[in-house]
Amino acid sequence: MTVGPTGVASWAMAFGVGTLRGNGVVDHRLARRHLINEFRRGRLRQDQVCDAHPELIRAARNVGSPASIACPICEVDQLRLVTYVFGPRLPAHGRCVSTAEELEKLNARPDELTAYVVEACTECRWHHLLRVIPVGRVRGQARRTS
Ligand SMILES: [Zn+2]
Repeated sequence: MTVGPTGVASWAMAFGVGTLRGNGVVDHRLARRHLINEFRRGRLRQDQVCDAHPELIRAARNVGSPASIACPICEVDQLRLVTYVFGPRLPAHGRCVSTAEELEKLNARPDELTAYVVEACTECRWHHLLRVIPVGRVRGQARRTS
């Protein structure tokens, strides 16, 4: 498997990502459900599933968008969604994108970028990768002819 910038690799590991690049959107809901079930069955301790990086929690608190569903672990707080985009000419730790406008701008770039949508709970520090979305130049897209 080819891994692009090291930033992607480290974040991907932090998020427990198996698949880094697909041809389309990669959904991680199954892996998420599995993890939650293991926790509820007592096979995983809370500190094993609630170990979000402080930076992620800060981003979730400051720029995250409300996911309108309760945290599956503590059920106290609402989950927040944070999107990070990785790729050429972006910071090694990714760019935290907080508006649709910002994402549109990145999507217009000629580079191949990858967006990671992560859910996080600012209460118990649960976090999970939800989706991996290719943004920027679309591979295989026909060039516009004038
Ligand atoms: Zn929580």
